[in-house]
Amino acid sequence: MRKFGAYPITVNFNLHTQLRSNYKEDELYRSGRREEERQLFITTSTTSDSALENNLWKQEIDQFETTVCQMLRKIEGNPAGRMVLGLISKQTMVWIIPETDEMKKCSCAQTGPLKYEIQKGSVARGVGSGDTVIEFTPELGDDTLFHELVHAYRYSHKKFNPMLIDLRSGSDVQQQSTEEFLAHQMENIYMSQANRPLQLDYKWHSVVNKQEIYDFLLHNVDALETLKYFLRHEYLAMLAAHTLTTTDYNPFRDYGELEATYIKGTSWTTLPELGTVLGS
Ligand SMILES: [Zn+2]
Repeated sequence: MRKFGAYPITVNFNLHTQLRSNYKEDELYRSGRREEERQLFITTSTTSDSALENNLWKQEIDQFETTVCQMLRKIEGNPAGRMVLGLISKQTMVWIIPETDEMKKCSCAQTGPLKYEIQKGSVARGVGSGDTVIEFTPELGDDTLFHELVHAYRYSHKKFNPMLIDLRSGSDVQQQSTEEFLAHQMENIYMSQANRPLQLDYKWHSVVNKQEIYDFLLHNVDALETLKYFLRHEYLAMLAAHTLTTTDYNPFRDYGELEATYIKGTSWTTLPELGTVLGS
């Protein structure tokens, strides 16, 4: 396993350890031994495959860990990337581990707490805080890894708290998590900083330009209120607004203009932040 620079990040190839543990975790889950299941998950996530069979998997280990560290260096070379890396709580550790073939089926990565809170009657492991585990495969690219690091950052400060909002594109309406909304906005800022293509939304992946995304946000009051919520309560959003001033796409920096455009011609003087109950 490799520590990445001075950041609280460890890249750990443990694919074969995972494959051996997974069925035991399932078994422990089925027999209601949830504490033991969690302990096995923690041990598995933090154990390297180099301990197996006299380091038989050395080549796979080196390949994964070298590639992921290269991606992390690429992220560090981007101002938005460096910002997120630098803000992850140093009291915690982010473990980046490979995906199993089963996990790869979703073509997505996943971030969750290492010591997750056990949910009665559910296999869900997304609640908790502190150390995190990112299940990642390099084929997904540095933009996806950056997105997951935003989640890890929020967990590391005990701030990961998904709320549901309704977003609409055309006639399609989707409920989305505010955590995914934040990670997606940061991802677009990261991409814009590098002059790479932007995607409309976390659920709708069409490649569009900045104005098309701003138009989408202007048609979704929940999105505007969520931007406002993060600007007020999330240091990362405030810092992005005030320091990433030359980035073309930056809805946190441009929030004032977006809000002014939205309320123009209405009787409103301001928009509430998400979750505010308006007075009687
Ligand atoms: Zn995500």
